Amino acid sequence: MAVERTLSIIKPDATQRNLTGKINSYIEAAGLRIVAQKRIHLTRPQAEAFYAVHKERSFFGELVDFMISGPVVVQILEGDNAITRYREVMGATNPANAADGTIRKDFAIDVQNNSVHGSDAPETAAVETAFFFSGVEIVG
Ligand code: ADP
Ligand code: MG
Repeated sequence: MAVERTLSIIKPDATQRNLTGKINSYIEAAGLRIVAQKRIHLTRPQAEAFYAVHKERSFFGELVDFMISGPVVVQILEGDNAITRYREVMGATNPANAADGTIRKDFAIDVQNNSVHGSDAPETAAVETAFFFSGVEIVG
């Protein structure tokens, strides 16, 4: 298994409900190491740029509004197969479809307010981690 890094975001619905620590405990219990982390409030241009891949989707406008509605915690997670592993720990996009014991099953409100983001492939993980962090901010 390859050691990978993936980009995680604890979304505004979760920071607003004081769930950062609880979500971090799910991440660490899954064997993923938080090697970078900061709490920020995204601007609209930043959120639009981060989610540019979804700009043709019907929900793009409300997704951007949601992502700038409060603070987020952006993180880099490191571990064996971290990209796939974190997607498993997150659970399905819609919490109604998420498996028991996943972050979204236990904490998400609905398909939009779904508490966490995780990169979906090595290429997006590389782009997304570089979007938020410079090399000196990543401490493995
Ligand atoms: P994931 O975050 O699981 O990779 P997507 O990349 O498909 O899911 O979507 C990005 C984000 O857009 C989701 O996490 C969610 O916050 C929001 N979203 C996805 N589908 C919908 C929808 N049908 N209605 C509203 N928001 C959605
Ligand atoms: Mg996605």
